[in-house]
Amino acid sequence: MDLQHWLGRATHAIQDWSATFGPYEPHPSLQVEEGRFAAAFEEFTGRLKDNYPFFHPHYAGQMLKPPHPAAVVGYLTAMLINPNNHALDGGPATAAMEREAVAQLAAMFGYDTHLGHLTTSGTIANLEALFVARELHPGRGIAHSADAHYTHGRMCHVLDMTSHPVRTDSQGRMDLEALEDVLRTDQVGTVVLTTGTTGLGAVDPVHEVVPLAERYGVRVHVDAAYGGFFTLLAGAGAGADTDTGAGTGTGTEAPVDLPPEPWRAIAQADSIVVDPHKHGLQPYGCGAVLFRDPEVGRFYLHDSPYTYFTSTDLHLGEISLECSRAGASAAALWLTFRLLPPTPDGLGRVLAAGRRAALKWAALIEASEFLELYQHPQLDIVTYFPALDPATLTAVDAASARILADGMSGPDPVFLSTLRAGREEFTARHPKITADTDGARILRSVLMKPESEHHIEHLHHRLESLARPA
Ligand SMILES: *Cc1c(COP(=O)(O)O)cnc(C)c1O
Repeated sequence: MDLQHWLGRATHAIQDWSATFGPYEPHPSLQVEEGRFAAAFEEFTGRLKDNYPFFHPHYAGQMLKPPHPAAVVGYLTAMLINPNNHALDGGPATAAMEREAVAQLAAMFGYDTHLGHLTTSGTIANLEALFVARELHPGRGIAHSADAHYTHGRMCHVLDMTSHPVRTDSQGRMDLEALEDVLRTDQVGTVVLTTGTTGLGAVDPVHEVVPLAERYGVRVHVDAAYGGFFTLLAGAGAGADTDTGAGTGTGTEAPVDLPPEPWRAIAQADSIVVDPHKHGLQPYGCGAVLFRDPEVGRFYLHDSPYTYFTSTDLHLGEISLECSRAGASAAALWLTFRLLPPTPDGLGRVLAAGRRAALKWAALIEASEFLELYQHPQLDIVTYFPALDPATLTAVDAASARILADGMSGPDPVFLSTLRAGREEFTARHPKITADTDGARILRSVLMKPESEHHIEHLHHRLESLARPA
C-alpha cells in the first residue's frame, strides 16, 4: 500500500464530493501564507524526531506501534469531513461504520447479541462497563486481580464503588480460592477478569470464574483491552475456522500454543472491553465496550437538547457516556477490517507472528547463561532479567536499569521497558533469589509488531551482550 498515493486519492475524493455542493470562498481569516506554513512545518517535523522508533523491530519496549496504512487513510479521509459519532446527524456514514465494526468485534468474541460502541480509550470503555455494573448491583463492589490495570481501582473511586484486589498465582493469573473468599463476603457485584494483563500478558481463567460467578450471582466483565484480539488464535468466536488450523494462519507456520478455554468462555461474560488502538492496528483514540444484554442501554438514557434527531434510529450518543467522538476512528477501524478482518486468517495472522516471536525468544532466553526468563509468556509479552551471581533483588534491579539505558545508547540500539516485580511475585517464580529488598525492576518486551518475528535472534544477541558481565 503506497501511503502517498492513497493520501492523494483521499484529498481528491473529498474535494470531488465537496464540489457537488457548489463553490465558495474560504475566509481570509483562515488563510495562511505558504512560506509561513513551510517554516512551521519544518519546526514541527523537527520536533517530532524526539520520539522512540516505535515502528522499528528493534523497538521492543512498551505497547506502541504505528497504525496500519489503511487505518491512516481511513482516519485522515474521514477527518477531512470530521463527522461526530455522537449523533446520527453528526455523521450517518461513520455511525453505520461504527455499528458494523462493533458487530465484527462482538462476533469475534462469540457474542450472539450485543450492545456496544467505540470509545476514545480502554479507560473510558472500562468506566462504562463498571458504571453499568454499579447500576445493576447498587451497593456492591468490584473484584479484580491484583495485576489488573490500575484503572479499575481508580474508576471504582470515581464511581464510589469498593474495589477488591484479588491475589494472583505464580503466573500472574487471578487466584480462584482468593476470589471465592471475596465472593463469600457478598460484597461483590461484578468480577473483572483480565485476558492479557498489561504488565505480563497473563490471562485470567475466565472459564473457571464464569461458573463460580454464576453460583454467587455475580456478573463477569472481561477487560481484554490489550489481549482481546488474541481470541483469534484460540479458536473462539464466529470467525474461527478450525479447518485451516485456527491460530496458525496458514497450515505451514509453527503453532502458537494458546489454550482455548479462557478465550471461548469470554462469550459468556456480561461485558467486554477491547482496544483496537492496541492490537487492532488503529491510531490512538479507539477503544470499545460490548455488553451481551442490549437492555443495559436503559442506564444511558438522557435527553440531549443540542442534537436534532432527523431519524428514530438508535443514536450512538444515547448509549455512550462520552458526547463528541471522532467518526474518523470508526472510519479507520471499518476500512482496516475490510482488508484485515478480525478473523484467524485476517488480523489473526498478525497476532500469531508476535506470539511466535515471544515463544522463540522465551526459548532462547531459557537456554541462555546471561539471561533468565521471569515467567513463560502467555501472549506476546516477554519478561526477563539478567542472570547474576550472587542473585539479589537489588542487583537485578540495578542491572535491569543499566541494560535499559545502555540498550538505547550506542550504535545498534535496542529499546526495552522495565516492569516492577514485587518481592512475593519474584520469589514465587524464582525461589533462589536473595530477596534483600521489596522488589526489583525486570526487563519487559512487548512483541506486538509481526516484524518482531524475524528480529528475535538479533534482539537476543544484543541482550546477551548487554547482560554479559564485563
Ligand atoms: C491499556 C489497558 C487499559 C487502559 O486502556 P487505555 O486505552 O490505555 O485507556 C485497561 N486495561 C488493560 C488490560 C489495558 O491493557
